[in-house]
Amino acid sequence: MSSPIRYPVNDCYTCVQGEGVQTGVAMVLLRLHGCAVGCPWCDTKETWLMDPSHEVTTLDAALGANPRYTYMTAADMAAYIIANHPGPKWVLVTGGEPAQYDLAPLVAALHEVDFRVAIETSGTEKGHLNANFDWVCVSPKLNMPGGKTVHLETLTQADEIKHVVGRQADIDNLDELLAAAQPPAATQICLQPVSTSAKATELCLETVMARGWRLSVQTHKYIGAK
Ligand code: SF4
Repeated sequence: MSSPIRYPVNDCYTCVQGEGVQTGVAMVLLRLHGCAVGCPWCDTKETWLMDPSHEVTTLDAALGANPRYTYMTAADMAAYIIANHPGPKWVLVTGGEPAQYDLAPLVAALHEVDFRVAIETSGTEKGHLNANFDWVCVSPKLNMPGGKTVHLETLTQADEIKHVVGRQADIDNLDELLAAAQPPAATQICLQPVSTSAKATELCLETVMARGWRLSVQTHKYIGAK
């Protein structure tokens, strides 16, 4: 019998979802380590590099905003979360880029202990597509320094497409992507101003009102939560 997948875990804490359609919902945020996308405005750059010198042997030693990570099985993560974060009904799997890993065993283990499971992914990896997530948010990262491609099937299987916008060209790029992917009409499209910029917020507001989309603001940055 092959040994179970072990995932690199960077952080785990209870919070309130600050962005997108599920804003305000209490969640256990489970942050997997590693990302090769390279967004210049990334809030979690400490998760990018898989540097073996930052591997630690327990989750307690990895917790917090730092480059440390520890490897855990899906069963161990589910047991840890149910023991330490029993309040929320949802677990949000994020990163880093979590979909670079096969996430089916992780979602199955979290379902076993009655959590609903959401993911936030850049659309550049496919490890979530057969994982039976209850909510999939794709935040497509286009033309980033890492040179990764957004896979169109990640958009057609998304409940939510949340696009970070700094200028009109970002909306034009999203339009091109949507025209190519043709996601279902039920998919909710959110525009999120980059780094809470006032100029980007104005552009997002105008566009969501014109298109019947949704505005996503990073509410955690306004209320001082992480
Ligand atoms: S995909 Fe996410 S974790 Fe990776 S660089 Fe971009 S914002 Fe950061």
